[in-house]
Amino acid sequence: MPSSGQSLMQHGEVTHSVVHEAVEVKIESSDLAVDRAEVESSLGYPGGKMPAHLRPGLEEVLAAYRTHLVVRAGYRIVETRRDPSRPDGMYAGGTFFHMRTLVTGLLKKSELLAFFVCTIGPGMESWRNRLQADGDLAGAFLVDTVASLAVESAVNLLHDRIEVSMRAQGLKITNRYSPGYCDWSVAEQHLLFSLFPPGFCGITLLDSSLMVPIKSVSGVIGIGKQVKRAQYTCDACGMKDCTYRSTRTRSSTPSTKRKIQP
Ligand code: SF4
Repeated sequence: MPSSGQSLMQHGEVTHSVVHEAVEVKIESSDLAVDRAEVESSLGYPGGKMPAHLRPGLEEVLAAYRTHLVVRAGYRIVETRRDPSRPDGMYAGGTFFHMRTLVTGLLKKSELLAFFVCTIGPGMESWRNRLQADGDLAGAFLVDTVASLAVESAVNLLHDRIEVSMRAQGLKITNRYSPGYCDWSVAEQHLLFSLFPPGFCGITLLDSSLMVPIKSVSGVIGIGKQVKRAQYTCDACGMKDCTYRSTRTRSSTPSTKRKIQP
């Protein structure tokens, strides 16, 4: 467990000594797992219905994608508190995050918050752009889809590492939530990034709230004695074009049912 900037915080009978500044977590590209069936499903062809002419291209991308990845990930744990007069958000490290009702409700039992960022670097993006410039639009689309699933796989590993670390200290974690999703404004990316040193993990935040490299993810995970990591509740959500909808079920599989590398 990282120890820089540790502090103590009292919560009833529980003493936490897990607050820390931003730290990077080592994730190897060889640790990532992009499932062929999931790619096909993301492309709109679930159940093995992908047209035969796309299969060779997908095999090529799946065989080579790891060579285009430079994975970097990190997180920072901060104290959190709620203000009864502001029920649609939470304070984190002294800053109020207006997460709105859904995310705030899902994190409300948290005693600490882990803010994280993760990227697979610019390699896949450059590969996709080269294919696009060459007129291979199908290939570009395949690369982009695999890249999106690769960064999600990297975040899954980061999520698991945080869970293992917290479990060792008798704490549980929640699912993860990101600005721009679940009714949380993407503009709050700027608050989130203010918790990290400039250029942390090689990620830059643009004024538009987009991250560079594009294949990057940021978000927050709740920590506490009374929280849990459970299935995402996307069924009732009206955000039909959410890029996470199709991957959330797999992402939310409790880590006890998946192999975790500490
Ligand atoms: S589909 Fe799921 S992940 Fe996407 S915004 Fe809705 S609740 Fe959030």
